[in-house]
Amino acid sequence: MRNIISEEVTHVHHWNQNLFTFKCTRQQSLTFESGQFVMIGLEVDGKPLMRAYSIASASYEDELEFFSIKVENGALTSRLKDIRVGQNIMVSTKAAGTLVPGHLIPGKHLYLLSSGTGLAPFMSIIRDPHIYESYDKIILVHCVREVSELAYQQEIEHHLPDNEYFGDLVREKLLYYPTVTREHYQYNSLGVPDGLKAHQGRITTLLKGESFSTDLQLPKLDPEHDRFMLCGNNAMLQDIMTILNEKGFSKATSRSQGHYVIEQAFIEK
Ligand SMILES: Cc1cc2nc3c(=O)[nH]c(=O)nc-3n(C[C@H](O)[C@H](O)[C@H](O)COP(=O)(O)OP(=O)(O)OC[C@H]3O[C@@H](n4cnc5c(N)ncnc54)[C@H](O)[C@@H]3O)c2cc1C
Repeated sequence: MRNIISEEVTHVHHWNQNLFTFKCTRQQSLTFESGQFVMIGLEVDGKPLMRAYSIASASYEDELEFFSIKVENGALTSRLKDIRVGQNIMVSTKAAGTLVPGHLIPGKHLYLLSSGTGLAPFMSIIRDPHIYESYDKIILVHCVREVSELAYQQEIEHHLPDNEYFGDLVREKLLYYPTVTREHYQYNSLGVPDGLKAHQGRITTLLKGESFSTDLQLPKLDPEHDRFMLCGNNAMLQDIMTILNEKGFSKATSRSQGHYVIEQAFIEK
C-alpha cells in the first residue's frame, strides 16, 4: 500500500502491565519535527489497522521509538502488546501534527505538561539539543495514576544529564516534575533531581495552586515568559486549556503562534 511501509522491530520494553515502549527501523526519507506523530499499525485480516502514535525518539536518531498504552480489547494494542523483536510493523511515510515548539511565541520557560502516554512527544523534545538553546528552563511534568507508570525516569534523570554532547545543558535547564494521583509516591532508589521532591496530584491542581512554582523555584506563571505544550487525554487538555485561558495565555492556531500548543488531532477525533 502507498503511504505505508514496513519496519522491523528492534527493541521492546514493558514498563508494567499497561505500558510498553518499542523501537523499529526508520526509512531515512521519513523526516519529522519533535512532537509530531505518525500512523503505525499491523495487518489484521489482510488489511492495515492503523493508529496515530507520537514519536518518542529524537528527529536525528536512526530508529523510531514509540511509547504505548495496552488497552484491554483495544483493536490495535491488544495485538501490538505482543510484538517481538524481528517482527514487522507498518508505519506511515509522513509525519504530521501541531504539537511542535515552533508554534509557540518565544519565551523563557517551556512547560511540557503530560499525562500517561502523553509523555511520548516530550521525550522526543527533551532528547533534542536545540530546545535547550531556545529556553532558560524546560519543565517536564508527567502525571500518572500509579508510580509504576512513571516511565523513562532513568533516562530523564540520569542518561540525558550524562549525555556527552548536551548533558551540561540538560543539567542546567531541565526540571523533571513527576506527579502521581492514586497512590503515595515514595521516594525511590532512582532519586529525584536537586531541589525537587516527589509530587502528588493532578496537573490542574498544580496549576491552580502556589506550591508548583515554589517547588520549581520559578516565578508565578506569567504569559510574558511562560510557554506550554500539552499532551494527554481530551478531558485533561480541556481542563488545562480553561485554566491557562483564565490566566491570560492564548492557544497557538494554524495561523498564529500562541502561549501554548496542543495536538489538534487529540481533540478533533
Ligand atoms: C495524535 C495522536 C497521537 C497518539 N499518540 C499515542 C502514543 O504515543 N501512545 C499511545 O499509546 N497512544 C497514542 N494515541 C492513541 C492511539 O492512537 C490509540 O488510540 C491507542 O494505541 C489504542 O489503540 P487501540 O486500537 O488498541 O484502541 P482504540 O480503539 O484506539 O482506543 C480505545 C479506547 O482506549 C482509550 N485510549 C486510547 N489510547 C489511549 C492512551 N494512549 N492512553 C490511555 N487511554 C487510551 C480511549 O478511551 C479509547 O477510546 C495517539 C492518538 C492521537 C490522536
